[in-house]
Amino acid sequence: MRVFKFGGASVKDAKSIQNVADVLRNEGTNNVLVVISAMGKMTNAFEKVVHAYIKDNGLEDALEYVLKFHTSIAYELFARDHSIHEKVTMLFGKLSAFFAQNKSKDYDFIYDQIVCFGELISTTIVSAYFSEIGIGNNWLDVRDLIRTNNTFRAAKVDWETTKKNINQSIKKDELNIVQGFISSDGTNTTTLGREGSDFTAGIFAYCLGAESVTIWKDVDGVLNADPRAFDDTTLLEQISYEEAIEMAFYGASVIHPKTIKPLQNLEIPLHVRSFVNYEKPGTTVSKGKSIYPEIPCFIVKKNQILVSISSLDFSFMVENNISHIFKRLAEYQLKVNLIQNSAISFSVCVEDNFNKFRHFLEEMQSLYKIDYTEGLSLFTIRHFNEESRKAILKRGVSLLTQINKETLQITIRE
Ligand code: ASP
Ligand code: MG
Repeated sequence: MRVFKFGGASVKDAKSIQNVADVLRNEGTNNVLVVISAMGKMTNAFEKVVHAYIKDNGLEDALEYVLKFHTSIAYELFARDHSIHEKVTMLFGKLSAFFAQNKSKDYDFIYDQIVCFGELISTTIVSAYFSEIGIGNNWLDVRDLIRTNNTFRAAKVDWETTKKNINQSIKKDELNIVQGFISSDGTNTTTLGREGSDFTAGIFAYCLGAESVTIWKDVDGVLNADPRAFDDTTLLEQISYEEAIEMAFYGASVIHPKTIKPLQNLEIPLHVRSFVNYEKPGTTVSKGKSIYPEIPCFIVKKNQILVSISSLDFSFMVENNISHIFKRLAEYQLKVNLIQNSAISFSVCVEDNFNKFRHFLEEMQSLYKIDYTEGLSLFTIRHFNEESRKAILKRGVSLLTQINKETLQITIRE
């Protein structure tokens, strides 16, 4: 069995949905399971519905927006008297019923009961459209299959029950369609965290012992650098699971390690391919060569702060100080991206995502001597060579460099 994942961008309007059908016709639909996300930016739009409901302000407008979005796509794809329109209305009826009946004030619970409609509606429309054009399919409510605990918005998978459910319900010689991102604790809807549909594909592939997973994207595959930050980029044909995890660790937006892990366990290859240029092979993440072609990969993190900490009395920076500093860094939610230690000073490159650096600084300045520089870029080069190092150094003044076997990191003031 092959598992395909189509994200929001691949089903963002009527034309895109027709394109997904083209992709499937080209790939074949036998023995395939398709995971589909909410259309376009609909999860964000449903988040607005959640806020409006909780604040009791603007709910009608927020609902109107998501309703119009879906109905206009349905009217583009189907005749006026097609039964899909009734189905979409029914799903919105279920959402209204939730508003009428709900007594809970738990934000995360409410969130999951509402945002799940993005995936439920998108798969309902896509499944009906496929049937309409002669692509037979088996639509399943993934909430009957993926069982989780009740940590709403970040549910943990009960693998054993999920595996049993999946293997009982999937029709192996058909095209199966399921929702990404959503799941159930047995009573209520849960979700696997934003951008969770890739993980859904990983769960199905693992439970089915699938032949492969393909994530269909609007880019040709995984590139060696972000084209928004680098002029010349090259498509990577092959990377190993470990390499994909390393790249994600350093900040590349490749595939989340959570998705990779179950695939790695069963050595199921993961393909990243373009739903536009769908005849191209894209990138394969699999066992084997760490990277092919063997070229340096660049990852950049902006808005970094380099902090150098030394003791007031020139004593060495040792375990006690360092463990104290780390405790504080964690408490102030400063993300540490690089660490370097010398006899009398300890340097960290941090990211201040929660605007707490000032408080950290105030506290630390009473105990240590602190130097810091803000507004830096942290460049990471995997599989670096002299040429790639020089290319990065040209971008500005380098402040701190760290070299490991495969990885070079440089903080730069651009
Ligand atoms: N629709 C969900 C989101 O936008 C899940 C996903 O697309 O992966 O986060
Ligand atoms: Mg998405």
